[in-house]
Amino acid sequence: MVEEDRIESEEREEKNPDRVLLKESGNKEYYAIIKNWQAGIMKVNLMLIIIMFLIEIIFMFILDATGEISVPVSSYIPRYVLRPTLVNVVVYVVMYLAYKSNDVRNSFRAMIPLVLLTVVLSNMLVVHYVFPAVYMVLIVPLFISTIYGSMKISRTLFYILIPVYCVSIIQIVLTPYYILPDAFWYNVVIGFIGIPLSYLLVQNIVAYENEKEQLVYEQYETNQELQREALYDGLTGVLNHTGLFKVLEKKIEEFTPEKSLFLAVLDIDHFKLVNDDFGHEAGNIVLEKLGSMMNNYANEKVQVARYGGEEFCVVFSAMKDYEALRILKDMHKEFPSYKYPGIDRKVTFSAGIAAYAEGLSANSFVEKADQALYLAKNSGRNRIESV
Ligand code: GH3
Ligand code: MG
Ligand code: MG
Repeated sequence: MVEEDRIESEEREEKNPDRVLLKESGNKEYYAIIKNWQAGIMKVNLMLIIIMFLIEIIFMFILDATGEISVPVSSYIPRYVLRPTLVNVVVYVVMYLAYKSNDVRNSFRAMIPLVLLTVVLSNMLVVHYVFPAVYMVLIVPLFISTIYGSMKISRTLFYILIPVYCVSIIQIVLTPYYILPDAFWYNVVIGFIGIPLSYLLVQNIVAYENEKEQLVYEQYETNQELQREALYDGLTGVLNHTGLFKVLEKKIEEFTPEKSLFLAVLDIDHFKLVNDDFGHEAGNIVLEKLGSMMNNYANEKVQVARYGGEEFCVVFSAMKDYEALRILKDMHKEFPSYKYPGIDRKVTFSAGIAAYAEGLSANSFVEKADQALYLAKNSGRNRIESV
């Protein structure tokens, strides 16, 4: 199974109630965006670790030069440079290996960059506990989690954040050489209020984004439906006149002498008599049958369309002339074998087939095939002619 398929089936398994597009299988572009974001957050984590390391060293020199350093350089380096960097690097390596591993579930992989960021930031909180702002720093991964549009992911992260915050506070309190600032417990309480409040906000953002996305998706589906209706024939289910010309123009554009292109025009024989003798409704049933039969032959190289009335077309691309003729002959042989309720007559069609010649427009290509059809009709009907 390819990676994307695995992701899709996993998402379906989880019955993720959130982002609409996540539930939709086949949306590979969506996963590509998410994957890019995940890789981006991993890079941000690495940069953060490097920047924090460099800043600590720069600060050490500045504080030492200005005489403001609180502890001797020999204690500063292990406490503020080596210990936090070591913890960060170890956690990064472990998380990176898990992130790259093919064995982890996709939903778990989605959490890794955010959990890593949580750990790196909590490390920053422990080292820089004297600054009030760092007590709120853990809400950053929470807000980033909104990119997934998943209540479940944001909730899981929130459940991870609270114990991580508690452990950080305990670490600050228990570190023997830390002197707690006067406002320490106020800052701690602000964190305990700020993180859940941010989570409430995150939940609302995710819900709002999902609602918006649902609307966009519904509009997309309606658009697809309208596009389909504009290109397909309502009675027979094959391409309509517009659809036929779209296909023809595309195939003509792609045409090379090595990739031959053929067009067949099919016309039901004495169809007016079918209508006259058995009624218009009966005539429609015959048309439907011809359409569905032709559809059974359709694939990437064989495209079928209703040109109009009781005339149909087949576009054969990237195949040899005998292959196209073989398929057309099969259709010609199969069609009269059908019986219709209330019609005690064998219904046949005549067909003309033409090869595309460089420079022909779509219209003149159809005219060329029409000439072959004319020949077939004039030679006694129920036959195939080519030009
Ligand atoms: P020929 O063998 O020369 O093709 O004879 P024909 O009777 O099939 O030819 P003609 O073009 O004179 O008749 C085509 C008929 O197809 C006329 C029209 O009433 C009928 N027709 C066109 N569209 C429809 C349709 O959607 N439903 C039905 N039931 N009949 C249709
Ligand atoms: Mg006709
Ligand atoms: Mg006819």
